[in-house]
Amino acid sequence: MQANKPENFAQNVTEALAQPDLKMIIRRTTDKAEAKRSDAIANFPEFEKARTQGQKVKDHTIKYMDHYLAEFEKNALAQGTIVHWASTAEEASKIVLDICREHKAKKVTRSKSMLGEEIGLTHAFDNSDMERIETDLAEHIIQLAGDPPSHIIWPAMHRSREDVVKLFREFHTDPTYSEEITDLVRSARRDLRTKFLTSDIGISGSNFLLADSGSTCTVTNEGNAELTITPPKVHIVTAGIEKLVPSMAHAIPLLRLLTRSATGADITQYITFHNGPKRKNDADGPQECHIVLVDNGRTKMLAEGMEEMLRCIRCGACMNHCVVYKHIGGHAYGSVYPGPMGSVLTPHLQSLEVANKQTHACTMNGRCEDVCPVNIPLPKLLRSLRAQSWEKKYEPLTNRFVVKFFGVLAKRPQLFQLFSSCSLIFMKAFSRNGWIKYMPFTSGWTRNRDLIEPETTTFMHQYKKMKKSNSGGS
Ligand code: SF4
Repeated sequence: MQANKPENFAQNVTEALAQPDLKMIIRRTTDKAEAKRSDAIANFPEFEKARTQGQKVKDHTIKYMDHYLAEFEKNALAQGTIVHWASTAEEASKIVLDICREHKAKKVTRSKSMLGEEIGLTHAFDNSDMERIETDLAEHIIQLAGDPPSHIIWPAMHRSREDVVKLFREFHTDPTYSEEITDLVRSARRDLRTKFLTSDIGISGSNFLLADSGSTCTVTNEGNAELTITPPKVHIVTAGIEKLVPSMAHAIPLLRLLTRSATGADITQYITFHNGPKRKNDADGPQECHIVLVDNGRTKMLAEGMEEMLRCIRCGACMNHCVVYKHIGGHAYGSVYPGPMGSVLTPHLQSLEVANKQTHACTMNGRCEDVCPVNIPLPKLLRSLRAQSWEKKYEPLTNRFVVKFFGVLAKRPQLFQLFSSCSLIFMKAFSRNGWIKYMPFTSGWTRNRDLIEPETTTFMHQYKKMKKSNSGGS
């Protein structure tokens, strides 16, 4: 599947809505995720307290980012880790590939990392002479299918079980012919096991960077991060600078929020803290350990008053609760980060000029903010991006005209009422059995769904009538 581009958002959405099963497949996972999160929060009475605590930890670390970055670097170096700094995605990707080339790597295993996707590692390896092996089960599926991820927690959510059966039969050396999930998982395990053991370099992301110890922390359910990190001689971590927390004690409340918000589980199967290369008496571990600390627009977000977005712990809850995401899925956004958090992040990671349409793909119902475990005011941030987009004149001329026209009407109540009454007559002319299937100037809406027939009279007319009847009808 060819990766969509953010600037083609409108076209991507049209194509997504035209796929008959996509909405059903997405809803199957996101609705289940909603229910599981809701149960987990109901069984976690201190949720609000943890949320405030999590927010405070992130805000504090972001405020003193320069101090904690320096502390992290000092402690990581003391552990024997080699620290690299990358200000852009290209720089980060080049650092990783250069390390691999220096070690003459032929085979590279990766555990799931959205940062890795953000800096373009997937394409960089596919354009090199090295073999890239994705070890997370969902990433393994989309690698076989040639798809980009469609969700930050369940990257293969858009693929059905039938798709997975076909892919495994086509690509696995010893495939299963059963369609049972446990057999499919075993088939993937058989295929990946030898690759884990023969990999030259393992690359992982990190959920948290602990400043006071220079350690990195990974959170997984499959144990693939541990198998990616431990057997190869060299381990490379790529992490955004916003992953910093002062210490393990500060990471714990965030961990409690992350697992419940992401999958509805109290805890994940594997939470591992990595402390540099193998030491003399260690049973196993890599001989060399690198960490690439990536900025890629993050300090610019700080400078531009978007620091609240840097709290994000990538739990995916906002997209699971987003009515727009549930309809169009992740690929339509044309970015590594879809849904509400992606609509705020992508304009900073790429540019507002290419990703301004995503900021409008929001009904402002506020569900994303309600469920965000670190209280990120996503609707407020989206509104601010819309305002910037308007100021920079990124909106199409027709949209600008409509908004300006509405501004003229809104300031003149009588003209507004006259226009509303005429619009009702106009809409009625196209209504059949309570629904409008087609009407001039509304194809953006009626292309994919019908428009409900409006009331016979305007709101103001009904309001006046109600007031009159309440006051005795005289
Ligand atoms: S914005 Fe909030 S809800 Fe969305 S992924 Fe980030 S932390 Fe989770």
